[in-house]
Order: sequence, then structure tokens, then C-alpha cells
Amino acid sequence: MNLIVLGAPGAGKGTQAIYLARHFKLDHISTGDMLRDEMKRESKIGKQVQHLMDKGRLVPDKTVIDLVTKRIHAVEKANGYILDGFPRNLYQAEVLPTITKSIDAVIQVVVDDEVIVERISGRQVCPKCGATFHTFYHPPLKESVCDVCGASLVQREDDKTATVLERLKIYHEMTEPIVDFYKRQNLLITVSGVGEVQDIFDEIISALKEKR
Ligand code: AMP
Repeated sequence: MNLIVLGAPGAGKGTQAIYLARHFKLDHISTGDMLRDEMKRESKIGKQVQHLMDKGRLVPDKTVIDLVTKRIHAVEKANGYILDGFPRNLYQAEVLPTITKSIDAVIQVVVDDEVIVERISGRQVCPKCGATFHTFYHPPLKESVCDVCGASLVQREDDKTATVLERLKIYHEMTEPIVDFYKRQNLLITVSGVGEVQDIFDEIISALKEKR
């Protein structure tokens, strides 16, 4: 089974993608994670995309399409995959059928912009071990200090409020049009991303069962 999870940054699509990947034994393909990994390794691609990602802008289509194509071809014979963060615009959605066999369902996780700003701008990450916290929803025991390894927590450059607003603007302008694209193909499942992670996950599973 091949799935796509869609949603604004901070809607919780990444978390649901991880749960779905575990449940159906799918390969989790997150373009954001792949690009962050390129930056961490200071690869040629990483250096090219750093300034765009820091500002919350989309990186060039060709860069992402090349990364996704390689990854999909590497896992295609396995159980299937879940795409998280791709496609991000209509062009990418139109190219996808040329890279891969069919998509079985597209899950859209919806959350209001105000809730998203509150969620993302409180996020803190540990630069040393990667643990994540939230000043309100999941605060560390000691303010701004990692519970796991004791390093000072930081805010990801693209989680700063101004950048979050830019990412939301880009989401509405560039990514939302693909919702209709998949609705017309009768592939779309829409769930609210507000509530307990497990409840949202259960709703997705029932909707998938109904669809199949
Ligand atoms: P995410 O972790 O999915 O929120 O992605 C983080 C950042 O990676 C985005 O703000 C973009 O700069 C970049 N990115 C991820 N996926 C794509 C994509 N499909 N097309 C263009 N840029 C992307």
C-alpha cells in the first residue's frame, strides 16, 4: 500500500506518518527529514537548500523529485511507503505518477492556523541528541535543558514565528491546491488534527478500511 499524508507544517502529519508506517510496515519517506539530513551532513544539496529551508521556502522541485525518486525506487518492491511532505505543489503531484505506481489514499490532516502557530513556535529541540520538547505541551523538567542529555535546547530556525507564518502562507498557496487534485481522483481522506494522537490515528485507520 502506498499512502500520502498532507497537512500544514505543525498539523501533526509527521507523527501520523510514523504511526501509519509502523502499523502497515511501510517505508516512511519524509522529504523534510531527507533534506535536514543533507544539511547535517553538509552535502552539496544540503548547502544549496539551507537558506531556503531556514526561511521556510520550498526548495527547487528538481532537488526534491530526484531525492524522492531514488528513495521510492529503492523501496518499491517492499510493502509500500508513506510520503510525508511530498508532493508539496501541483507540479510535484503531476510528476509523481511518472515515478511510482499507484497511490492508494491521501490523508489530509487539518488544523487551524492559530493552533499551528501556538504549536510550532513553542517547539524546542536538543541539538545534541535530537529529543523534542514543547514549552507548553511537553516542557523539559528544567527550562530549556534537555531531559535526556542535559544540553541546552534550541528553537529550529524554521520554527520561529515569522518563519512559521511564511510556511503557512506557502502551504495555503502552493500545497492546498493538491487537495482538490486528489479529491477529484477519489483518493482523499480528511481528518481533524486536533485531539489525541491515538484518536486521530484510529480515525484514519477506520477511514482507510471504509475506502478499501
Ligand atoms: P517539513 O519537515 O515537511 O515541514 O519540511 C521542511 C522544509 O523542507 C520545508 O519548509 C521546505 O523548505 C523543504 N521541503 C520539504 N519537502 C519539500 C518538497 N516536497 N518540496 C519543496 N520543499 C520541501
